[in-house]
Amino acid sequence: PSITLCSGSACHATGCGPVAAAIEQELKKQGLGDKVDFRRTGCHGFCEQGPIAVIQPEGICYLRVKPEDVPEIVSETIVNGKRVERLLYADPATSEKIAREAEIPFYRHQQRLILGQNREIDPKSLEDYLAVGGFQALSRALFELTPEQVVDEVKRANLRGRGGAGFPTGVKWEFTRRAPGELKYVVVNCDEGDPGAYMDRSLMEGNPYAVIEGLMIGAYAIGASEGYVYVRQEYPLAVSNLEAALAKLEKYGLLGKKILGSGFDFTVRVHRGAGAFICGEETSLIKSLEGLPGEPKPRPPFPAVRGLWNRPTNINNVETWANIPLIINRGAEFFNSIGTEGSKGTKIFSLVGKVNNTGLVEVAMGATLRDIIYKIGGGIPGGKKFKAVQTGGPSGGCIPESLLDTAVDFDELTRAGAMMGSGGMIVMDEDTCLVDLARYFLGFLSDESCGKCTPCREGIRQMLRILTDITRGQGQEDDLERLQELAETTRYASLCALGKTAPNPVLSTLNHFREEYEAHIREKR
Ligand code: SF4
Repeated sequence: PSITLCSGSACHATGCGPVAAAIEQELKKQGLGDKVDFRRTGCHGFCEQGPIAVIQPEGICYLRVKPEDVPEIVSETIVNGKRVERLLYADPATSEKIAREAEIPFYRHQQRLILGQNREIDPKSLEDYLAVGGFQALSRALFELTPEQVVDEVKRANLRGRGGAGFPTGVKWEFTRRAPGELKYVVVNCDEGDPGAYMDRSLMEGNPYAVIEGLMIGAYAIGASEGYVYVRQEYPLAVSNLEAALAKLEKYGLLGKKILGSGFDFTVRVHRGAGAFICGEETSLIKSLEGLPGEPKPRPPFPAVRGLWNRPTNINNVETWANIPLIINRGAEFFNSIGTEGSKGTKIFSLVGKVNNTGLVEVAMGATLRDIIYKIGGGIPGGKKFKAVQTGGPSGGCIPESLLDTAVDFDELTRAGAMMGSGGMIVMDEDTCLVDLARYFLGFLSDESCGKCTPCREGIRQMLRILTDITRGQGQEDDLERLQELAETTRYASLCALGKTAPNPVLSTLNHFREEYEAHIREKR
């Protein structure tokens, strides 16, 4: 038998440390220390119900485990094969207990191709990663495929970047590969800054080897010999697991010169970002890596041609890199068999806000927002009515109930007035004031704007001032026209994506919930 305990950041906050200590102590006490395989894994995703312990081979899932539950789990389940009923998931509709993790609705409706290994492996253990097929894709790339064939496979898979823009990854790789220059760089963007989003953090915490393997395959395909992982300092567990993984790879000769006896040389450095949202933008990230203030630059030239220290540079976010081993192992055809016409594969979302089952969700592209919020998320707490869902982070848009059957697909979400972004999904119920929400996001963006260009710096500040007046009951009759005009100017004239998308929360709430703005203005104090 084995016990795995979810030990991502969310479960650390809810006490997985004392639970782990209690498991080790109890196994020892009952003489089972060398008979039961116990490992602390990355995030299992069902963060609302953590810490989560899964007992194999039965796959019994215990939720909200406390240290005092551990002696019973060991005596009853490990020793006697019985279940501890009170720790099982109870279906809210029927009160029926569900024991197996795979049958809990939160998991049953997901397709966890990228997150799946998080719950199986100790993220610091290279042996664990090898045991689930780790580095087979790298080995295949190095010994069976030419760099051009790797690029071609990623192009044929139609993988689109998961960081927000949705640009085709293989095409981006090809630009960097073809750019002239001996020295090229590849970079992992782990500067996830959207409020409520933690997909990349959980991947980096729970499966750093998969991200590094993807990066190495990309480096081989592009012709890069140096890589950087730009990770925010606020992610200490991700940094520590990543550094432990890199140290192991160096120790066993999987990084450095002539990797696995091939002609491929590659090294990786970790760079800790100080937590500026704008450093998630590629050109600012490059500046920050160079030790300069993280301010965007006009493009072209694109980083593929002139990036880090003016060398060709390819930047992808954590989730994009983590998709690469899957594509090389299972092939472009398999990847193309999942998703929609324009968006292939799966997408990870952090489902948060006014929804019963908050956590990390991975679904095939094309799943509807309704399925994610109701089938996986379990609907709205307290019998309240759904009002809206914000997708795409602070620069995304609010989607009303009438558009809940929209599919998660880069193009469909844009058509609905929102965007995929990197995968933040914040659910709001009937009590949420959407003018307040727009003001909150504009406040965040005003703080995070680098201030380099006037339309963004001043446009956001003025929109925020008007929204603050409206929410304080000091709105004027012509405020909505001025908001609309400011939003459109900011979108049109700002230099980078932060400014260009900052008006989205205002425009989408004005579009779908204009009556809330009008009510605030009418009810002037
Ligand atoms: Fe800076 Fe905003 Fe201009 Fe981007 S749009 S460069 S964040 S001021």
